[in-house]
Amino acid sequence: MTNANPESQPATPEATTHSNFLRDQIAEDVRTKKYGDAVVQTRFPPEPNGYLHIGHAKAICIDFGLADEFGGKTNLRFDDTNPEKEETEYVESIKTDVRWLGFDWDRLCYASDYFGQLYEWALKLVKAGNAYVDDLTADEIRQHRGTLTEPGTDSPFRNRTIEENLDLFVRMKNGEFPDGSRVLRAKIEMASPNLNMRDPVMYRILHATHHRTGDEWCIYPMYDFAHGQSDSIEHVTHSMCTLEFADHQPLYRWYIEQLGIFPSQQIEFDRLNLTYTLLSKRKLLQLVQEKRVNAWDDPRMPTLSGLRRRGFTPEAIRAFCGAIGASRTNGSTDVEMLEHFQRDDLNHRARRAMAVLHPLKLVIDNYPEGKEEFVEVANNPEAPSAGTRQVPFSRELFIEHDDFREVPPPKYYRLSPGKEVRLRNAYFVTAKSVVKDAAGNVIEVHCTYDPLSRGGNSPDGRKVKSTMHWVSAAHAISAEIRLYDKLFTKADPYDLEEGQDVLDNLNPNSVEVLTGAELEPSLASAKREDRFQFERVGYFCLDPDSAAGKLVFNRTLALKDSWAKIEKKAGA
Ligand code: ATP
Ligand code: MG
Repeated sequence: MTNANPESQPATPEATTHSNFLRDQIAEDVRTKKYGDAVVQTRFPPEPNGYLHIGHAKAICIDFGLADEFGGKTNLRFDDTNPEKEETEYVESIKTDVRWLGFDWDRLCYASDYFGQLYEWALKLVKAGNAYVDDLTADEIRQHRGTLTEPGTDSPFRNRTIEENLDLFVRMKNGEFPDGSRVLRAKIEMASPNLNMRDPVMYRILHATHHRTGDEWCIYPMYDFAHGQSDSIEHVTHSMCTLEFADHQPLYRWYIEQLGIFPSQQIEFDRLNLTYTLLSKRKLLQLVQEKRVNAWDDPRMPTLSGLRRRGFTPEAIRAFCGAIGASRTNGSTDVEMLEHFQRDDLNHRARRAMAVLHPLKLVIDNYPEGKEEFVEVANNPEAPSAGTRQVPFSRELFIEHDDFREVPPPKYYRLSPGKEVRLRNAYFVTAKSVVKDAAGNVIEVHCTYDPLSRGGNSPDGRKVKSTMHWVSAAHAISAEIRLYDKLFTKADPYDLEEGQDVLDNLNPNSVEVLTGAELEPSLASAKREDRFQFERVGYFCLDPDSAAGKLVFNRTLALKDSWAKIEKKAGA
């Protein structure tokens, strides 16, 4: 891989070996030398009007991944032709996210770099009689466009002379006319069955300050008059985009042919749709603006920055993108599949630690008061090279509230009066009695331990049915824990009742904050990039809200893997 960061190899081989029609097409073009000896050139073309989401990760993996495979190159190009919606903050976040995902671009480009060239090309089309200035309003243009079943009708300005069109277009550019008063349109065919070919708008007047070109321009090219030509300028051989652009392909080709420029070709693939997830920058922006989430990088967001903060890794996201591949029809992917890839990755890399989220005091009556000892614990049983650590043990511990029942239901094998269990890596203990508060809640459990069971090993072949995690009370550090759930309540957030908005399907309980968790002391030195499996609880990482003496951990995922079950049921 030349583009990918060497530290971040795909977590599973599927990431590079999965076959798809895009690869087949590129292979064919290389074989037939469609572009001579030119290298395979792709681009990833985000509009800087929001943060990247997991759907963009799919496009990035396709654009960079396929170029890589063929020894080609990929440009990062900002499609910045909408000055009103674009910001430098978004440009910076996009660069960060592409790099984080493990890719590095060949050239960093901006459609706005080509405004001069695009204007020259527009003049060329005007001079050839292939473009005209139209004074109809946006509404009138829409009315003249016709429908899928009815042809459009010509604008009364369609047959202006070339001289008049030239004069008006230059004056549009010079700022002589107000916003919306005129547009430049390609003169193609108002009866075309493809609506995109019915004299599409090429330029609009917009006296807006652009994040890069400032006030230099007051006319801006439309997407269709910018994208293909930008591809052509960069000698993009394979311009891969999502299926909604398929209808634009004839126009993409028309401009390139009329201008006689480098013949970039557009190929479409399916958009990623994930269950319980909204993938639209416009809607995600609304979530941020309306403060339904805290920010673009809120760990519940499907943005790359949100997933990163939540503890997802680039390796897992790439492996997932490799596994879903690309197709020619849109579908929907279970979010559990993404989670499955993430768990698989974390299972191999996450350091194990003990953390008690809902602490209940456990006192070992026959353990000497004031005594402290250390038990040796493997950092990751899946990776012996991760080594071991010493965890302090003492007379008073915290266990999970859920791990004790005064009156155990059938098949409850954890701690209850008279029952013996194993404290992981430490000792066997048997519950003896409880202390309750005035309301009758158990606030302390008393037990005895078997000193011969040190290390959690049975002293005499005696079996226990349960192994529980624990934290020594005297050594524990407290932390805030944030547990996340799905952001939407419906698998398809767009499954709406009459008059509802997609945001009505937001899950009101998508985050639960626990303030009294008790953690083993080694977690005091946790760093942002560390990944943990809190034993029996889930995968966690440190949140940037943490400060000295105030640790905050995010739950990346719970341990259970519902995808593995789904796969098993499906007989996969
Ligand atoms: P959104 O609707 O979220 O704003 P977009 O398509 O407008 O997405 P762009 O910034 O224009 O976003 O997209 C950059 C590239 O990413 C395009 O090639 C686009 O096709 C691709 N892309 C965007 N969303 C998805 C998705 N859900 N799945 C796959 N590719 C996507
Ligand atoms: Mg867009």
